[in-house]
Amino acid sequence: MSEQKIPLAGVVGAPISHSRSPRVHRHWLNTYGIQGYYIPMEVASGDLEDAIRTLPKMGFVGVNVTIPHKEAVMAIADQITDRATLIGAANTLIFRPDGKIHADNTDGYGFITNLQQGAPGYDPKSGPAVVLGAGGASRAVVASLVEAGVPEILLTNRTRDRAEQLREDFGQRVRVVDWVQAGNILEEAKLVVNTTSLGMVGKPELRVPLDGLQPGTVVNDLIYAPLQTRLLKTAEEAGCVTVDGLGMLLHQAVPGFERWFGQRPEVDNATRAAALR
Ligand code: NAP
Repeated sequence: MSEQKIPLAGVVGAPISHSRSPRVHRHWLNTYGIQGYYIPMEVASGDLEDAIRTLPKMGFVGVNVTIPHKEAVMAIADQITDRATLIGAANTLIFRPDGKIHADNTDGYGFITNLQQGAPGYDPKSGPAVVLGAGGASRAVVASLVEAGVPEILLTNRTRDRAEQLREDFGQRVRVVDWVQAGNILEEAKLVVNTTSLGMVGKPELRVPLDGLQPGTVVNDLIYAPLQTRLLKTAEEAGCVTVDGLGMLLHQAVPGFERWFGQRPEVDNATRAAALR
């Protein structure tokens, strides 16, 4: 009888030392008693294709992909899911037994599942959503909000052209608003999402005026370091329902873990604690 292979997975990026994914996957491997490994791998852009093509030969069943390789891996994949194509980037690769590389993007799934868990009373169809930022994470957020049936997305970004591009890609439900007007559109929102890097440790603070936030509005920050950003603190004081960014990070990891290790993991308080350790 042939010996059972121990599945290997990991995360490919540059730099990679900050990634919390290894802690999350290792927590699940331990929790479910699965023999397997999840390894952080720093790979330079010039080596990306060689590295990805070598991993399946070494026993890897798949990897997560993070900054700066999420767009570049699309050219290496043999099959790309519709949601990854729509977003223009992939964060999860599956190395299939037939040698094909399958690419998916689970950021939108992570975003919407986190929102459902953190704000169970929120109905996407109930009114407009304000999305701050138009980078890679914003594309995943806008795609999921369109799919969830949000009637209007007020999208604002420092570089207006990037927001206009999203409107072109995601359609008429997206309305682009000047960055300087961001504070003036909060009042009409049922949901406010910060997808910019502003407010993150080591980055400038988000300086959008927040006095328009209404009690009951759901406010979600994708930033998870720190866990409570200025946006979330101000929103909480204004009586909003706040949802931090850690849950998105945890939920986006679920589909990959399930495909690689054959067990759908639970996102619970122990998972949050493991990610924060
Ligand atoms: P990105 O593609 O580089 O986009 C960065 C965004 O931030 C752009 O909209 C950019 O505006 C804006 N921005 C940066 N500096 C700014 C400034 N000084 N003033 C105004 N706007 C500024 O990055 P990303 O991949 O979308 O990630 C964005 C953030 O989301 C990161 O902090 C990341 O950690 C977080 N994130 C969290 C999760 C999660 O699981 N919780 C998942 C994905 C991302 P311009 O277009 O004008 O440059």
